Amino acid sequence: MKEIDALVRPNILALSPYSTARDDFKGKAEVYIDANESPFPSGWNRYPDPRQKALKARISALKGVPAESIFIGNGSDEAIDVLMRVFCTPGHDEVVSIAPSYGMYRVAADINDLPLTEVQLGEGFSLEPEKLLAACTERTKLLFLCSPNNPSGNAFAVSDLLRVAEAFRGITVVDEAYIDFSSQPSLLPQLAEHPRLVVLQTLSKARGMAALRLGLAFAAPRIVELMSRVKYPYNINEAAQKLALEVLENPIEGQVATVLEERARLERELPRFPFVRKIWPSDANFLLVQVDDADATYDHLTRDGIIVRNRNRVKGCQGCLRITVGLPEENDKLLKSLSKL
Ligand SMILES: *Cc1c(COP(=O)(O)O)cnc(C)c1O
Repeated sequence: MKEIDALVRPNILALSPYSTARDDFKGKAEVYIDANESPFPSGWNRYPDPRQKALKARISALKGVPAESIFIGNGSDEAIDVLMRVFCTPGHDEVVSIAPSYGMYRVAADINDLPLTEVQLGEGFSLEPEKLLAACTERTKLLFLCSPNNPSGNAFAVSDLLRVAEAFRGITVVDEAYIDFSSQPSLLPQLAEHPRLVVLQTLSKARGMAALRLGLAFAAPRIVELMSRVKYPYNINEAAQKLALEVLENPIEGQVATVLEERARLERELPRFPFVRKIWPSDANFLLVQVDDADATYDHLTRDGIIVRNRNRVKGCQGCLRITVGLPEENDKLLKSLSKL
């Protein structure tokens, strides 16, 4: 705990967080007249659980991580922002991330006025632990890794990720948004032995709840406690908590298997087009595809009603489109449209 506290922004360490009516009284009662809510039942007239106990218990059982090690954010994006606000003093501390990677690390760092050093991945989007560590200074509090990485799609070796997490003196954040599609294992089993490690996952991708905005951060209980102080008290609304509990009952294995089969099919079919130069190996539900003319290919697909992500202007992704694996019939349409090009 001392080790973690030494990294925390002093004003956050000293913060007395807002205490909600639901925090002051935690038991079951007959009459609730403590929160200035409407007394008329609308289904939604009561404030939600600020600590999301039921949902955390379910996620705890699903992931094999104790509830005290789970933070739920309004999307992973909230977790990314809250981590910066817990650990980094604006205009003073620094953040490091790999590149190309998820755009929110940059946006959140800019909003929080934190200089971000982006360390370009190596050949074939490989992780270079020594280069990353060399980019960290005394002021670097957070290091963002993403595995499987967006937009390159590849996952990094657990040994390399741990090598970085152990050598870096600050907080290493490993974003596992696409872990359900990966052949590499999650770092969740490593949490207990790595108190300065934060693993991000999300219910937005394989779990199919992007609309509900539920991101997960798994970390040492002290880090979760600090993040909970900083978040908005009722950051996860009642509808999202309820619906997530329902949707989490649906198994996703079949859907994940279909995505992996379709990914393999696209990996086989796409190279047949003469304008496809390269497809990077993917551990995610998308493929990064380099073509002769990315803008023209993008425009052609758009005219056919098919929207992919044009990554042509992202450093390290020149000529690339990022294509999410869709339903089998959607992937058929993609291939058919490309065959007309
Ligand atoms: C999609 C994605 C997320 C998910 O963000 P949410 O805010 O939870 O929807 C997180 N990280 C990466 C790298 C992603 O690609």
